[in-house]
Amino acid sequence: MSKDGIKAQPPEDNNKLELNDPKSVAGGMPAITSSLQHVYGEVGIVEGTKALLKLNQFDGFDCPGCAWPDPDKHRSVAEFCENGAKAVAEEATKAKVNADFFKKYSVQELSEWSDYEIGKSGRITDPMVLNPGSSHYEPISWEGAFKLIGQQLNALGSPNEAIFYTSGRTSNEAAFLYQLFVRQFGTNNLPDCSNMCHESSGAGLSETVGIGKGSVKLDDFYMADVIMIIGQNPGTNHPRMLTALEKAKKSGAKIVTVNPLPETGLIGFKHPQSPKDMLGSATKITDHFLQVRINADVALLKAIMIMLYEMEEKAPGTVLDHDFIANKTAGYDDFKADLDKYDLQTLISQTGLQEAAIREVADLLASKNKIIVCWAMGLTQHKNAVDNIREVVNLLLLKGSIGKPGAGTCPVRGHSNVQGDRTMGIWEKLKPEFGEKLKATFNFEPPKEDGYDVVNAIKAMHEGKAKVFFAMGGNFISATPDTEYTAEALMNCDLTVHVSTKLNRSHLVHGKTALILPCLGRTERDVQNGEEQFVSVENSTGVVHSSKGNKRPISDHLYSEPKIVAEMAKHTLGSRSTVNWDAMVADYDQIRDSIEQTCGGFTDYNKRVREPGGFYLPNGAREGNFATKTNKANFTVNLLPDYTLEEGQYLMMTIRSHDQYNTTIYGLHDRYRGIHYNRRVVLMNPEDMKSAGIKARDKVDLISEYNGVERVANGFLAVPYDIPTQCVATYFPEANVLIPFDQYARKSNTPISKSVIVTLKC
Ligand code: SF4
Repeated sequence: MSKDGIKAQPPEDNNKLELNDPKSVAGGMPAITSSLQHVYGEVGIVEGTKALLKLNQFDGFDCPGCAWPDPDKHRSVAEFCENGAKAVAEEATKAKVNADFFKKYSVQELSEWSDYEIGKSGRITDPMVLNPGSSHYEPISWEGAFKLIGQQLNALGSPNEAIFYTSGRTSNEAAFLYQLFVRQFGTNNLPDCSNMCHESSGAGLSETVGIGKGSVKLDDFYMADVIMIIGQNPGTNHPRMLTALEKAKKSGAKIVTVNPLPETGLIGFKHPQSPKDMLGSATKITDHFLQVRINADVALLKAIMIMLYEMEEKAPGTVLDHDFIANKTAGYDDFKADLDKYDLQTLISQTGLQEAAIREVADLLASKNKIIVCWAMGLTQHKNAVDNIREVVNLLLLKGSIGKPGAGTCPVRGHSNVQGDRTMGIWEKLKPEFGEKLKATFNFEPPKEDGYDVVNAIKAMHEGKAKVFFAMGGNFISATPDTEYTAEALMNCDLTVHVSTKLNRSHLVHGKTALILPCLGRTERDVQNGEEQFVSVENSTGVVHSSKGNKRPISDHLYSEPKIVAEMAKHTLGSRSTVNWDAMVADYDQIRDSIEQTCGGFTDYNKRVREPGGFYLPNGAREGNFATKTNKANFTVNLLPDYTLEEGQYLMMTIRSHDQYNTTIYGLHDRYRGIHYNRRVVLMNPEDMKSAGIKARDKVDLISEYNGVERVANGFLAVPYDIPTQCVATYFPEANVLIPFDQYARKSNTPISKSVIVTLKC
């Protein structure tokens, strides 16, 4: 419980838990039914259908869900998945959160609601303010809101006392203006949701292959011999990836899945738009499933590489790509000397796998060299997360599997424009060359000192070093670790501001004064100066393309994100600014012209973004050019995780349900895993439950203890599940309270959401 009785954590869940057998086939008719139920229920048949027909189309809007790429050339009529449909339903809902709603419910009352109930309350229609000491939000004019922001920002002792967070929904245009304003204001405090997801990928890939993004295109999947999917659940989090995997299999690719949970989407798939699939049997997706223990990926990768060396020794020149290693890489000798120190059997026992299963995968890899490795949070949210990524690269380098068609790295990004926001300069570290470009284009001196990332922003707010928190989208309190500590941090602030489409828990865990600024959604028409505008985004494979909504906005009082930034900038900086903010907002082409001048790879931006499907940004690793310090791809030496579990301790990973996207809870069903209605569950190995005397549906408290601080998550129902021993899984945000803010990945500061040591109390 936080200050003033506000609940920062989702409340205890009294819904009756229903359990069914996990499903073995994803997609199919249930996916269609679920999509239509969500869209037609929230939006209506006519409006819902109109919206879906524009989703991910060349002349339509980008899916507000994940960042999975669309086909370059041909788009089908229904170019979306179940979760894309749910994301559209959520945004295009007819339900409204207006002045009457806030008059009826106090902030404290709303905080007692579940995240599902809060989300279902509807779209925010007007700017709202929560004045100091008040219990209810009330309307405020846009002018009043911007004056308040300007006064509070200008009253700070230093620009570094303000934090400007960004979620991955923000368009390129809004993100570019936002970072420009923040840097003109005088700080690099630009934490973003990447800090909590793929920061480890960026850190590991930049060092080893010279670019912090993936190297593959969608078409590479159809040329690959082997696709490895590690620590990722595409059936729920990037569902159209299953379509690509199905097509890749038809082209002859083998799929290797490495994950602690057997996720349905990777077992079998029926493409909902393929009559053949719908009438026939499902496509088996995974050829080799390695059900690895949580965070044993480095041990597994080392074991595989040792096996590759054994085969290479028997048949020299047939397994490893010696030419590639000699000509394109650096650091090989150190890497090899380190690998030689490991004992194969010890590594195998750490993975929890049978040797034969690993050997099958090593045999497969030995004879192939077009290998793609995909991954997500299962690799990036550990203390050793950057080592995980670097070890993936080591494997690819041994095989020469990067910089050629059908091979390479694929960190699959979550939120739809999370990659584009980084390209636009949303980062707490200002790259010197980008700073120089900003200086030359806009005639000001950007701050050089690093700003706060997410964990340091939380700490700064908690310690009173930061007093204003501004969020461009997102749901900070539910996305971040250490819920109670983070709530104290936010409630310490003099002002919290959220630019949002829908109500979420972060609006309720507020500063002394709080503002909600309602913005246009992806599905909605954006008219500025009498002209319809469009924005642009970048997907996981580095394609930049346009996005244009077609729906009438739910309220006449919504502003676009670029306009909100411009007004904030004018009211804060006044004549100090060297930017013509009004001109930028009147015509987004002007923003894109500025992006072209300052961000690399955007030549002819306004022309190329209007081409169907957009354009690819340059990617050296894709071409085999590695812009690292050595000008080569770097082998690295990586450590195994450095903890041991004592009896009664478990390694906990947080996961999403199938009715969830990031912090948005679309429904109460985790259909594929067979878990319904109650989200406060802990998935456990049946043998572990027996040893601990825990029965199915028993209520347990989860406890983590780091540096002498105990954190407790109460009232979780035990669910027997197919998960390795001493590993447990829980949904977030319910279990975020257990993740210490000060435990994060070396080099990337990403919180350890996938490997928290916990004990259970019955
Ligand atoms: S795969 Fe991702 S981007 Fe594509 S429709 Fe589904 S949620 Fe949207």
